[in-house]
Amino acid sequence: MAIPDIFSAEDLLTTPALFASFEPPVRLAVIGDPIAHSRSPAFQNAALDACGIRAAYTRLHVPPSRFTEVLRALPRAGFLGANVTIPHKASALVGVDVADAYARASGSVNTIVVSGDKLHGFNTDGPGISRAIREEFSCDLRDLRVVLLGAGGGAGRAIAVQCAMEKCARLVLVNRTLEKAQLLATELAPYFLSEPTSGSLDRVCAITFEDGDLRRELENADILINATSLGMNRSDGPVVPASHLHSNLLVYDTVYTRGGSRLLDDAAAVGARGANGLGMLLHQGALAFEIWFNRPAPLAVMRQALLAH
Ligand code: NAP
Repeated sequence: MAIPDIFSAEDLLTTPALFASFEPPVRLAVIGDPIAHSRSPAFQNAALDACGIRAAYTRLHVPPSRFTEVLRALPRAGFLGANVTIPHKASALVGVDVADAYARASGSVNTIVVSGDKLHGFNTDGPGISRAIREEFSCDLRDLRVVLLGAGGGAGRAIAVQCAMEKCARLVLVNRTLEKAQLLATELAPYFLSEPTSGSLDRVCAITFEDGDLRRELENADILINATSLGMNRSDGPVVPASHLHSNLLVYDTVYTRGGSRLLDDAAAVGARGANGLGMLLHQGALAFEIWFNRPAPLAVMRQALLAH
């Protein structure tokens, strides 16, 4: 029997034995709402195949009202782990039995390991973007002055925590709702305390998209990271005015839509190097694979499957 592309919360809650009845048995899934768009099964199944692991990875469509129930039912259905995506990452932190330090600091979990009847939570989004930036631009976050757009969102927070843990040269948190970015800046300030300051500027600060502030910060930045949900549709307005971009800026857009993004088009137009979020997606998935199986992920195979999808 062919494995369906998507299972429902009801499938898992009412027929947990169903998942082990396939060949190979379904033992991993990405859980979200919506979930049909997820590319994770393409590259995780390629990785499982390449490593000769007898398990399949699927999509689980779970609305917020059923999420906690589904999480607790994973051991009963024979799952060895899961990924969690929009809108469940913050709830997953609450739902797991233990979360590692980075997941706790990020306020969210995107990777779960089932161990007996216990659930262990991790977050690979921050380490994933760190690896992607190293690969795309041959540099490390710790050497960069970062302007992060959308710092108040789930992905933005995970990236901000990663920047702080790597003690990047400067971290400017930009958010439409300033209070969220200010709270985060206060929370992250201790990571930078023991480090030398860059001139008189605070190493971490919060601003809004206010024209003058953002332009000034971008003039002095090495990398702009977009973690807002703007740019997922081509009809979205510019996330920053094109006139704020310059040729010495690296631009990383966590969005990875098929037609490219307006931000990356604007970056290319001024001669700035840019990359989309596919690298982050790939590396967060590879890190999850490494957590589940305690072995290196077959990155080339996963990349090929992701690009072919
Ligand atoms: P989220 O939690 O809903 O956060 C959305 C963020 O965007 C918030 O900071 C929000 O600001 C901001 N925002 C929304 N509309 C805006 C607007 N019109 N103008 C300015 N800012 C606006 O979403 P998320 O889960 O963090 O996801 C954010 C993005 O990251 C998405 O595009 C997603 O595709 C991407 N992502 C990519 C990967 C990957 O692997 N490449 C992984 C995770 C996420 P407020 O706080 O003011 O509402």
